[in-house]
Amino acid sequence: MTTPEQGLSLWHAVGRNRRQRPALDKNLHVDLAIIGGGFSGLSTALHAAEKGISVAVLEAEIVAWGATGRNAGFVVPNFAKMDPVNVLASLGEERGERLIHFAAGSADLVFNLIERHGIVCDALQSGWIQPAHSPDAFEKVKSRAGQWAERGRPVEVLSKAAVAELTGARDYFGGWVDRSGGVLNPVEYARGLADASARAGALIFEGTRVTAIDRSGDGWVLGTRSGVVRAGKVVVATNAYGGPLLPTLRRTYFPLKVFQIATNPLPRDVRKRLLSSGQCVSDTRRNLFTFRFDAANRLISGGMHVLGPGADDRVPEVIHRRLARHLDLPDLPPLDFSWSGVAAVQPDFLPHLVDMGPGLIAGFACNGRGIAMTTAMGRALADWAGGTEARDLAIPCAPPAPIPFHGLMRHAPNMLLPWSMLRDRLDTAA
Ligand SMILES: Cc1cc2nc3c(=O)[nH]c(=O)nc-3n(C[C@H](O)[C@H](O)[C@H](O)COP(=O)(O)OP(=O)(O)OC[C@H]3O[C@@H](n4cnc5c(N)ncnc54)[C@H](O)[C@@H]3O)c2cc1C
Repeated sequence: MTTPEQGLSLWHAVGRNRRQRPALDKNLHVDLAIIGGGFSGLSTALHAAEKGISVAVLEAEIVAWGATGRNAGFVVPNFAKMDPVNVLASLGEERGERLIHFAAGSADLVFNLIERHGIVCDALQSGWIQPAHSPDAFEKVKSRAGQWAERGRPVEVLSKAAVAELTGARDYFGGWVDRSGGVLNPVEYARGLADASARAGALIFEGTRVTAIDRSGDGWVLGTRSGVVRAGKVVVATNAYGGPLLPTLRRTYFPLKVFQIATNPLPRDVRKRLLSSGQCVSDTRRNLFTFRFDAANRLISGGMHVLGPGADDRVPEVIHRRLARHLDLPDLPPLDFSWSGVAAVQPDFLPHLVDMGPGLIAGFACNGRGIAMTTAMGRALADWAGGTEARDLAIPCAPPAPIPFHGLMRHAPNMLLPWSMLRDRLDTAA
């Protein structure tokens, strides 16, 4: 039997552990209410419930409906555009090192949770590789790897030959690997987090959209169509899918639309010469090129594109052709799945907590590194729910800072793509 969510992504279509969860049908009183059933909300729920805090997760659709169920399943323990030196320059020595430490251990946290809770999600801590698309990019990558190595991370610089050997892609100049990264099926991971949260005592409601948040006494009242939830503290974990619920929050990030494709399973002989140890790859291009395999040997890639009429129909084929070109696969099997999702990107590409009022926090730890970072953020938010001051958490917390001219600026990441592509080409021509 097919279900409506099976069309959302490859991961929803093949995910094994779907469990129907009820909608809220009465009024509730809990210590902590969480809006959003993606990685951020579910990791918060699990860690909070394990501390004995009473928790309700309110998800408008189903668990993993948002970016959580639509990503590529790369587990990456670092920042998208920022190296440790940049983080220190931006946040200062003490706060910077805390955030770096937070990110460094985030992939280990994911794989430890999977093991501890027996989550079946095709998880492989096989490493994340970042190959360099130009000589300059290789110099940057060597410095980046050095900064993480100084902090004891399991990283290594890779020569051109080593990149070719590990990935099967021959036109890179070198790269680096963080062996604590890896891959998983994100929908199964999220469902596993939900199951573990429920076992720890969290209540998880699907089909329950929060339509109002109001202060009441020293707590909050969340309105839904089918009941009211009173809570001492609230975590808003809606990422780029929050809609009109908190209009100020919506203006604090860039909504970035990203497309993904999966081919039909590759023949074994071709599969063997690409990513033979099952790593995932995101290169240094501004127009990022990524690839990995799923458990059935489908080759998966993705990318941004300039949005416009017909983009949803056109872009998957563009990504498919790019995949064949970069990996020198003239006979690449046809597309099996294509889908897209929206990620919330912060102007400085770092995780942030947004202080929306006493006891009301929104968490953004995405910037393309969401699986590891949101999982770690959830653990931090559970500490906050348990009484730790927000200012003592590793992630910076501040009142909302709306992006100027957001109505126009929100389109910038996708609009600027042709410029990024030109700069990528100039890098390699130099
Ligand atoms: C195409 C794509 C590819 C990506 N690839 C990777 C990758 O390979 N590796 C990686 O680490 N990261 C990746 N990311 C980023 C990662 O997916 C996100 O950072 C992460 O999933 C965000 O999780 P979240 O829980 O914060 O938000 P989401 O998963 O977006 O969840 C928000 C949830 O809130 C719910 N919601 C919204 N409003 C309400 C409301 N009013 N009431 C109740 N519920 C509500 C939504 O239904 C949704 O389920 C990718 C993102 C995209 C879009």
